[in-house]
Amino acid sequence: MKNDHLPAPGPDSYEHERYMRAALVEAAAAAEADEVPIGAVIVHRGRIIARAHNQRETLKDPTAHAEMIALTQAAAARGDWRLHGCTMYVTLEPCPMCAGALVWARLDRVVYGPADPKAGACRSLYRIADDARLNHRLEVIAGFMEEPCRALLQDFFARKRKTATNGYP
Ligand code: ZN
Repeated sequence: MKNDHLPAPGPDSYEHERYMRAALVEAAAAAEADEVPIGAVIVHRGRIIARAHNQRETLKDPTAHAEMIALTQAAAARGDWRLHGCTMYVTLEPCPMCAGALVWARLDRVVYGPADPKAGACRSLYRIADDARLNHRLEVIAGFMEEPCRALLQDFFARKRKTATNGYP
């Protein structure tokens, strides 16, 4: 069965899945810490060089999105702010800040789960990651393994709503 969202079957799609699973582990760690569950990993030559999750509440930092933290880790691991040859796997479509940072960091590719119609800046609201007017463009693979990514987000917000209305229907 053909699915236009997915890369061609073969070793490459298996690899994509393995790395997205690692990003999902990060997203689950965010949920554990009562953070919106978004996780990201960065891969260079088959090796994961950064693993991060959203820590906006924990760090009280509006820029502490999973992608931003992962970019800082990856640059430290590479000893270079230029992340040529790197791919990011992230469990939600990046926002304008993170999509911009991906361009400035010169990554090769971003693979993400569900679209974010409210803030997505790779396809939904803007197309920052591969805008021809910017001096670097990433390959964008959208909608990869979106079901497990979306399930984590939905469970988190359903639990939040339940807590918020507990005893006060
Ligand atoms: Zn972001």
